Amino acid sequence: MAERTRVAIVGAGPAGLLLSHLLDEAGIESIVIDSRTREQIETTIRAGILEQGTVEVLTETGASERVNTIGDKHSGIYLGFDDELHHIDFGALVGRNVWLYPQHEVLVDLIAARLAAGQDLRFGVTAERVEDAETERPRVVVRDAEGRESVIEADVVVGADGSRSVVKKAVTGSHGGFFHECPFAWFGILTEAPPSKDELIYSNSPDGFALISQRSPEVQRMYFQCDPETDPSSYSEAQLWDELQRRTPATELKEGPIFQRDVLKFRSFVAHRMQAGRAVIVGDAAHTVPPTGAKGMNLAVADVVLLDRAIRDLLLRGDATHFESFTDEALRRTWKAQQFSWWMTSMLHQQPGASDFERHRQIAELRTVTDSEAGRRYLAEAYTGWPLLGR
Ligand SMILES: Cc1cc2nc3c(=O)[nH]c(=O)nc-3n(C[C@H](O)[C@H](O)[C@H](O)COP(=O)(O)OP(=O)(O)OC[C@H]3O[C@@H](n4cnc5c(N)ncnc54)[C@H](O)[C@@H]3O)c2cc1C
Repeated sequence: MAERTRVAIVGAGPAGLLLSHLLDEAGIESIVIDSRTREQIETTIRAGILEQGTVEVLTETGASERVNTIGDKHSGIYLGFDDELHHIDFGALVGRNVWLYPQHEVLVDLIAARLAAGQDLRFGVTAERVEDAETERPRVVVRDAEGRESVIEADVVVGADGSRSVVKKAVTGSHGGFFHECPFAWFGILTEAPPSKDELIYSNSPDGFALISQRSPEVQRMYFQCDPETDPSSYSEAQLWDELQRRTPATELKEGPIFQRDVLKFRSFVAHRMQAGRAVIVGDAAHTVPPTGAKGMNLAVADVVLLDRAIRDLLLRGDATHFESFTDEALRRTWKAQQFSWWMTSMLHQQPGASDFERHRQIAELRTVTDSEAGRRYLAEAYTGWPLLGR
């Protein structure tokens, strides 16, 4: 016997939780399941940069008040190259900003809001497959932590279940989508140290890329370009600081104990479609981007804003217009974000075996951006985020 709900959401990441929150605003009931525990979800360190539109959605809908109190507004970034730092002033160029507010804090807020409203959120429950996606009664077969199988039937099934999505199979079929592999990865560290600079530094150096980012006044997140097969334990702390410092010659880094290290591989993917019948995929289930443009979580939010409108129209007014155009509208932004992330990545990283010609060309590309207001404005507009459709 299947349990019934209006919208079954697989995945309690930013995409799944925000969608359930927005649907609840319109009185649309949903069940959210996640295979992980609440503690695992609330403590996994991932994205950190929120576009202005993302912050507006979170605050206007009451999903996160704390982004305004403990989030850190950044009105620019630094581009580092040729031993110099160049400030890109988002506020002056496009009148928009970004916020440094870690993804796991967004999840803490969204989980608290959902539980406080008495909504249905189930941890330790794993979706195994989606059935009958092409009908008006799609179903998710799930298994709980004790191994018991059951079925959730809904008007719409949403796969917000990340890059290894099981819902994706029901949506994209054997075609899948479009892939692009980068020949490098990021070595990431968390360190207990004060910030080295007031804004993020994206640094291009002959030794490779580095990103000097922040988490809080006491904890900093830093990355440097590495080989994807690098073993995170193969570096001593002194070697890690040496790598980071060599790649950011224009800034003296403030060092502290390193308490977390990981290697983050890059893989770009875009599904060839984001819906089939009444099954839809959003966020990382539908697309992944290199982290250089800070677009991953923001794209998930943009998908959800569009899908919220589409589901409201479909279920409350019987109007399928936005539901049917969802894939086209969501993929337009996704491909723009892929282009921006690819551009930032290629401009800032060293390709293995790159020639001196390529190195000079890359520096000229960076100068083309920093020396021109139009160049700086393009970067500022894309980084702070294009307008969100659907609200
Ligand atoms: C290590 C790492 C670092 C990153 N850093 C950045 C960054 O600096 N900047 C940036 O913009 N982006 C970054 N990203 C990307 C960003 O975190 C993602 O784009 C964002 O999490 C996407 O949100 P989502 O809700 O679509 O998916 P996710 O956050 O992946 O959430 C999916 C959820 O679904 C659950 N799930 C999966 N399968 C099932 C199943 N079968 N049944 C039930 N539940 C399931 C998972 O447990 C998870 O909680 C990073 C990603 C990773 C992995």
